[in-house]
Amino acid sequence: MRKFDLVVVGAGISAGSLVFNLLKQGFTGSILVVERGDKIAYGPTAFSAGGFRNLWTTEINQQLCTKAIGLLKSFQDDMGVSCGYDPCGYLFTYYAKGWAKVPMAADIWSKNGVNFDLLSPEQIEAKIPGLKCAVDHMDEEVREFLGFEPIVGGVFGRDCGSFDPSQAAVGYFERAMTDYAAKPVLQLNTEVLQVTFDGAKASGVVLKGADGSEERVEAGMVACCTGPWINELLKRSGLPDADLCPVISQKRMMFITDFPGHPHEDERWHQIPLTIIDQGIYFKHEAGNLMIGKARKDAPDSFDTTFEPDYYRDEVNLPMQERIPSTAVCKLKSGWGSLYDTNSADHNAIVGWHGNHPGLLLQVGYSGHGAMESPAVGIALAELIITGKYQTVDCTPLRWTRFQEGALVHEKIVI
Ligand SMILES: Cc1cc2nc3c(=O)[nH]c(=O)nc-3n(C[C@H](O)[C@H](O)[C@H](O)COP(=O)(O)OP(=O)(O)OC[C@H]3O[C@@H](n4cnc5c(N)ncnc54)[C@H](O)[C@@H]3O)c2cc1C
Repeated sequence: MRKFDLVVVGAGISAGSLVFNLLKQGFTGSILVVERGDKIAYGPTAFSAGGFRNLWTTEINQQLCTKAIGLLKSFQDDMGVSCGYDPCGYLFTYYAKGWAKVPMAADIWSKNGVNFDLLSPEQIEAKIPGLKCAVDHMDEEVREFLGFEPIVGGVFGRDCGSFDPSQAAVGYFERAMTDYAAKPVLQLNTEVLQVTFDGAKASGVVLKGADGSEERVEAGMVACCTGPWINELLKRSGLPDADLCPVISQKRMMFITDFPGHPHEDERWHQIPLTIIDQGIYFKHEAGNLMIGKARKDAPDSFDTTFEPDYYRDEVNLPMQERIPSTAVCKLKSGWGSLYDTNSADHNAIVGWHGNHPGLLLQVGYSGHGAMESPAVGIALAELIITGKYQTVDCTPLRWTRFQEGALVHEKIVI
């Protein structure tokens, strides 16, 4: 029987960061990474918008993202490969009610050294060509139906931006496989059917290869970096409901359109920040196109990833063209559906040892901010494994046991 000190389930950005940082911090044990897809970043990592921001209201998200942004900024120098780091900024826009709460968050940001500007409607309009903060250009009935109000202010995060999580994941694995003597084994096209337990302690995994053959592997620790598939795996492994994670799988789509006015678009479209407007519609520039997203309210718990162009037409473009009339002519060029691993209890990651199962490590439930947080979480988890405690960022608030303890982490700025 093959034996490893650590088996990692999944090969997305969170697994890559964990494995690379373990080796970087001197872990000399044997590592097996198992991915059911045929490549690194086979799952949601490859379908992310890749936004990163340090505008948060909870200390833990603030600390993780501040650390991670520094890592993304120096990724090319540190890792020898690009992660597509683009410090284009983040622009949140607000109606009057939300704007009244900004000073409270701004206090937290100022204390944490966050670089941000408060923008007037005129300054917002100068950043986004054709955006109209007022509502008097809208048909009254349409405006009421959509619930649109005037945008009275904006927060611009100067340290924020976007990157390519797939490139970062590949970079982490490339460095891990080439720079260290304890070279991890990466096994693609293989599913982890079950985690096995010796009493309560994780003791290995059962694998299923592409040819259907099964293999039992012994492991000192099992790290679940499975994204939305965590409970499938834990249930198959025989864990009771009380030992699962409060994680559901929700479809999220991204839409790629050309810029308004293409091919003679306003040059400013190429420099826009990642911008969040009415109804949670967000967009950024992406290689000469617009990348647009909007979460469907109450998306069901499902693994369905079917792409729905009609959703773009009816739910995204219709409201967006009320705020930015020139986007009415944007042509939908492509798009995709993928999955959020939504933590339905408090919309934050679940990080660290499973409270009831020694040797079982969790890094799941990222709820749409895993691409930007996992570069820092990988460092913290490597410290936990090697030294027994967190040093760089204390991830204790994200522990699995917080759900039993009633110690939820409530983040107010979630997209
Ligand atoms: C449309 C969209 C937009 C997003 N935008 C952002 C954003 O702007 N910023 C941000 O920070 N985050 C964003 N996210 C979230 C981000 O993509 C995820 O949080 C992040 O990619 C999680 O990475 P991961 O490595 O933990 O998991 P995943 O990328 O989900 O990878 C898990 C891997 O585990 C494998 N796996 C699962 N179970 C098994 C098994 N039993 N056996 C073998 N392999 C298994 C899967 O095949 C998969 O490859 C977005 C997500 C989506 C879908």
